[in-house]
Amino acid sequence: MVQEKHSETDVIVIGGGPSGSATATLIAQQGHKVTLFEREHFPRFHIGESLIPQTYHVIKRLGLLPKMKQSHFIKKHSVQFVTEHGKLSEPFYFHDHKPEESSQTWQVRRSEFDHLLLTNARETGVTVHEGARVLEVLFEGQRAVGVRVKLDDGSEQIVRSKIVVDASGQSSQIIDRFNLREWDPVLKKAAIWTYWKGAYRDTGRDEGATIVIQTQGKTGWFWYIPLHDDILSVGVVAPHEYLFQNRGKDYEKIYFEEVAKCPGVQPRIANATRCDIFRAQKEYSYRASKAAGDGWVLVGDAFGFLDPLYSSGVLLALTSAGMAADAINEGLAKGDTSEAQLRKWEAGYIAGMDRMRRLVVEFYDGFSFGRFVKKHPTLKGLVTDVLIGDLFKDDVDVLWPLMDEMRAEKAQYLATKAAQAATTS
Ligand SMILES: Cc1cc2nc3c(=O)[nH]c(=O)nc-3n(C[C@H](O)[C@H](O)[C@H](O)COP(=O)(O)OP(=O)(O)OC[C@H]3O[C@@H](n4cnc5c(N)ncnc54)[C@H](O)[C@@H]3O)c2cc1C
Repeated sequence: MVQEKHSETDVIVIGGGPSGSATATLIAQQGHKVTLFEREHFPRFHIGESLIPQTYHVIKRLGLLPKMKQSHFIKKHSVQFVTEHGKLSEPFYFHDHKPEESSQTWQVRRSEFDHLLLTNARETGVTVHEGARVLEVLFEGQRAVGVRVKLDDGSEQIVRSKIVVDASGQSSQIIDRFNLREWDPVLKKAAIWTYWKGAYRDTGRDEGATIVIQTQGKTGWFWYIPLHDDILSVGVVAPHEYLFQNRGKDYEKIYFEEVAKCPGVQPRIANATRCDIFRAQKEYSYRASKAAGDGWVLVGDAFGFLDPLYSSGVLLALTSAGMAADAINEGLAKGDTSEAQLRKWEAGYIAGMDRMRRLVVEFYDGFSFGRFVKKHPTLKGLVTDVLIGDLFKDDVDVLWPLMDEMRAEKAQYLATKAAQAATTS
């Protein structure tokens, strides 16, 4: 039964992940009426467990720093890399390069972290409906005017609003309705992961380090993320074709084939007990060709998804939430919910996302931050900025031409070596 409900809501948010909860909270903080629909009942499982330091600032705006500090989430101070041969790099401690409180972040179980954010939205005044699936975003012409939603009891409602925020993750409806999805030409990865109890853990300041471990031939890499309760999240990322073409769908078999090619992972999980199923996700990167239209906005994965490397997903979700909420609050205050108003944040956000994309692509091309910093020691601070996610500023752009230069030198060196080898043989 469809029952029209005349809502007084200013803003509807679809999805209660980090981007949805944060956007809703930041709008409600300004006294606007916000209704959030989440199809699941929380806590619910989600991948994306490692935060990076710059998430600090939005977490602070949400008023959640005290709860995060008191939580049992493992504190993350660093990242570390392990080569395809199992050789461990020096840890990269965020605080050593940037001695600020924000340099310590967390490894979170997303079921708990997302629940914390959603509860906080509720406590800030957002009307939250769980078990409420948005079936359709309603439009009058090109303008979004509300949603049709199905509740747990099977009933359907039509709810109207001035603005609809689509924060529904990779299953965004608006991106598909307007055919906005642009696939990344390069980043076409997939992941298989599971959870281990009793796997190797470092101690002290290193306990919460994310470790990025390459597989032989550098075809893929494993994430190694220590969570609380002695759980380790361990997953392999590799090109989708490589991971799944002609290898069937037996995730366990493929996972262990990759473990066999990864000397860095084998000893770490040798004495551990698996405590979850094997999960897999195709993670082709994409981005919408625009972040907003009349009466609608896309945030987080609903706008774009990059790659698990460097753990940027939640940072991008929270940052887009912060930027979009500012544009929405300003628009609501002056009665302007036009595309021009709601897209105000887009260019700055895309510039930051592009910088993170650049880092990701450089890693897959074999770029070494260690060698770069050795060559340009004065730029260590800026390299730190990009690694911690401080990407939404122009000053880091001095890095890119120098990276290009280094890449050209490497290509030149390899070409000379190949020519010498050809002459001697
Ligand atoms: C393999 C892998 C590893 C990753 N690792 C990391 C990591 O270590 N660190 C990191 O920061 N990021 C990581 N990410 C990325 C991260 O998971 C996402 O970027 C992040 O969850 C995006 O948040 P979001 O709020 O935009 O979307 P989501 O977290 O996906 O939330 C969307 C919500 O919308 C709800 N929803 C969907 N459709 C509807 C509907 N029709 N009606 C109502 N509700 C709906 C969903 O139930 C969900 O709760 C990883 C991603 C992958 C694929």
